[in-house]
Amino acid sequence: MSTSSGFLLPDIAEQTTAGFWEGTARGELLVQACDSCGARRMPPRPMCPVCRSTAVRWEPTSGRGTIWSFIVPHPPLLRAYSELAPYNVIVVALEEDPSIRFVGNLLASPDGEINEIDPATIRIGEPVRVVFQPIEDVALPRWVRA
Ligand SMILES: [Zn+2]
Repeated sequence: MSTSSGFLLPDIAEQTTAGFWEGTARGELLVQACDSCGARRMPPRPMCPVCRSTAVRWEPTSGRGTIWSFIVPHPPLLRAYSELAPYNVIVVALEEDPSIRFVGNLLASPDGEINEIDPATIRIGEPVRVVFQPIEDVALPRWVRA
């Protein structure tokens, strides 16, 4: 949802995803897993696509992965983002389960901005690790080179 700053931020109280955001607030990158068959899934959703169970648990991850893909968003962009363009959006495949992927931004440093990295230097397969940036009431997962 859009916020007063103009950035798109998640509803951290939404029932299905709240556990994920509670994890990021503690500095943990969690992934939802089925409490019946163990299948991991991302993004979080109420029902297991494998066995249809609604029993869920949250599993910690290494917070490490590799860049699976990336883009450079082009206009039209929301104002808050157009002021930062050009910036990158990366898709990270999780180290311990590459079928689990996270969308975020590659930063030069944990407290950096999303436009610090020259997108021309980003390479598919680069190792990265998660960092958490506080933005309003959300600890947003972002990524730095590992
Ligand atoms: Zn299941």
